[in-house]
Amino acid sequence: MGRRTYEREKPEGIKESDTGLAVPSQWDLVSDKQMTQAEQPLQSLSIDYIFHPGRTKIINPNTGDAKYVINVKQIAKFVVGLGDKVSPTDIEEGMRVGVDRNKYQIQIPLPPKIDPSVTMMTVEEKPDVTYNDVGGCKEQIEKMREVVELPMLHPEKFVKLGIDPPKGVLCYGPPGTGKTLLARAVANRTDACFTRVIGSELVQKYVGEGARMVRELFQMARSKKACIVFFDEVDAIGGARFDDGVAGDNEVQRTMREIVNQFDGFDARGNIKVLMATNRPDTLDPALLRPGRLDRKVEFGLPDLESRTQIFKIHTRTMNCERDIRFELLARH
Ligand code: ADP
Repeated sequence: MGRRTYEREKPEGIKESDTGLAVPSQWDLVSDKQMTQAEQPLQSLSIDYIFHPGRTKIINPNTGDAKYVINVKQIAKFVVGLGDKVSPTDIEEGMRVGVDRNKYQIQIPLPPKIDPSVTMMTVEEKPDVTYNDVGGCKEQIEKMREVVELPMLHPEKFVKLGIDPPKGVLCYGPPGTGKTLLARAVANRTDACFTRVIGSELVQKYVGEGARMVRELFQMARSKKACIVFFDEVDAIGGARFDDGVAGDNEVQRTMREIVNQFDGFDARGNIKVLMATNRPDTLDPALLRPGRLDRKVEFGLPDLESRTQIFKIHTRTMNCERDIRFELLARH
């Protein structure tokens, strides 16, 4: 309160106190109090309004007497009018709106619901990482090229041979060893959209929605020309299923079942590849490893001396540093 007085009427030359408040002699507590009492407390919208989740229908739209059918979830459908602050031009058919709790009048137009799956995933139309940005990991790059890149770029080769390319690859190894990096590089190389979902978020952040999220995720993936779906920390969902009867686990299992379903639902020669990453491959649900799912495993290890040198070089490329740094020496430590 004192601060407000200070901001409004800070006389020139008054020394600021350590707390950022005006010096006590400047305080006008009485008028501050009056002011706060006179102001209407701001109420949070969610208390004031019920959000109506879409599909507002308009009856008699072009007459002055338009009415709106709203469907307040789990309560009922209502035919309602507009609140004072909303004009008919604000409301369109199918819009989400907020209604008040008493008369259910439309009080506020709401923006479209953000697709939660979009906020959960990182989608990169074409990642900017190439194989050159991955230091070391030679074997891993080679393997990934063979099992992901080749079938995506040259599916006809597999048709000719009469074999199905792997649908999914499990990348495992300690954190920070380049699993995500390489997956993005593969996506770049194959011109694929790269979608990353974090397993633990899938089951913790969106409780009860995990399975739906997975469905939507694959739906989106199918709509792309080519898509690499990358499940990070997959042990959070794909950990071996123990039936200990805890309800929370069912959620995880449902999500897991949906992943397995989706895995079986797309064609190995199609446009989707699923990569999963974990640092605990031993705890993974064997269902994920059955044929036609994660058919290949690629292990990522800690980089050796040569790889470390390369990684140093890669990361200093854009830095302004001396020319003859001996990265080999640095990499030894
Ligand atoms: P994770 O294996 O946990 O998925 P990331 O691929 O996300 O690890 O790696 C984290 C970061 O570490 C990358 O963004 C990259 O900058 C760096 N990094 C890891 N491995 C390499 C590598 N082999 N070459 C170059 N940079 C790397």
